[in-house]
Amino acid sequence: MTTRPIWAEVSRKNLLHNYRLLLRLAGESTELMAVVKANAYGHGLELCARALEAEGARWFGVTSVEEAITLRTVCPAARIVAFSGVWPGEAAAVFEHRLTPVVWEAWQLDLLEEEGRRRGVAARELPVHLEIDTGMSRQGVQRENLTDLLTRFGERSPLRLEAAMTHFHSPDRPEPTELQMEGFAAAVETIEQSGLRPEFLSAGSSADVLDQSTRAVTELARRYKTRRMVRTGLALYGYSPQREADAELRPVLTWKARVTSLRDVEAGTKVGYGGTFTAQRRTRLALLPVGYADGLSRLLSNRGYALVGGERAPVAGRISMDQATVDVTDIPDVRVGDEAVLIGEQGTVRVTASELAELTGTIPYEVLCAIAPRVPRKMVE
Ligand SMILES: *Cc1c(COP(=O)(O)O)cnc(C)c1O
Repeated sequence: MTTRPIWAEVSRKNLLHNYRLLLRLAGESTELMAVVKANAYGHGLELCARALEAEGARWFGVTSVEEAITLRTVCPAARIVAFSGVWPGEAAAVFEHRLTPVVWEAWQLDLLEEEGRRRGVAARELPVHLEIDTGMSRQGVQRENLTDLLTRFGERSPLRLEAAMTHFHSPDRPEPTELQMEGFAAAVETIEQSGLRPEFLSAGSSADVLDQSTRAVTELARRYKTRRMVRTGLALYGYSPQREADAELRPVLTWKARVTSLRDVEAGTKVGYGGTFTAQRRTRLALLPVGYADGLSRLLSNRGYALVGGERAPVAGRISMDQATVDVTDIPDVRVGDEAVLIGEQGTVRVTASELAELTGTIPYEVLCAIAPRVPRKMVE
């Protein structure tokens, strides 16, 4: 049990609110995959997957076979897709735990076919999602290799092409997304020509669903008598990839700590490593048991703030590995044991992961994922 006074509260109500909103935006004909990779974007894989599954979620997206195995123990019946493919040594686990790997390399198909034949599975027993590179240049089969790769999905193969998938690199910009959608449409036609028909066209993440910017994929799915699938992560957790705040989304995570010590220092006193903060007046400092090892970026030194007593308390001095000090001089009646909020709301003030991202030159994704495993997560209603 963790007794150090720092924790993250994960709101079931807000998670399910966002999930229902995304379901509505995606539309009935579209399958929604809940992306829970990287410990559900720092929110706690088990807590989130359980809550989403109880709400009806059937598809989950994770990064690796390892994450997928962990999720399998939580959700025995769900479909689990591992985005980063399979690596030598992982094929047995794919069959054993009924996982669905994303694939795009011939050698990945070799690994899975060999394992399938070794186990004597039936033809087309293992569903895989084939990623097409339409412009991200990260993973996915390139157009010139697609036809060759498709010959591997013959009637006798243990593998079944369940979905053709792609990923948009700039969902907030119409032009590159248009181009990517055209590339995807051409790939889907190539697949059709080869006599294969995947059940799903999997394309689109939070940004596309929130903006309804890629309806062309839904049309494409209709034309080929398949279904569209979208894969949403960030928006489930209450953040929009494009906007500072999205009125309809509700942030799911609140990050809290308690004030563990208070001191008053005279004007001229230095605070923290390097003495980078000098008290300009008699100053009251509150100590918080949170540092960069907990995921609070050191870039917030002398820039960030915590909410204490319903007000913003600026970070004073450098953030240490395990601790940070905030200036509470102007906040009356702060006591040891009071709650401080690092992300979330307190009274009428709030700090969002987007705001911290702005202050540290990154994106809310990274701020949320950075919250360390040693910070316990608990589900609240
Ligand atoms: C992470 C990821 C997503 C989800 O993206 P969000 O912007 O968080 O919705 C979708 N697809 C793939 C392949 C991903 O890696």
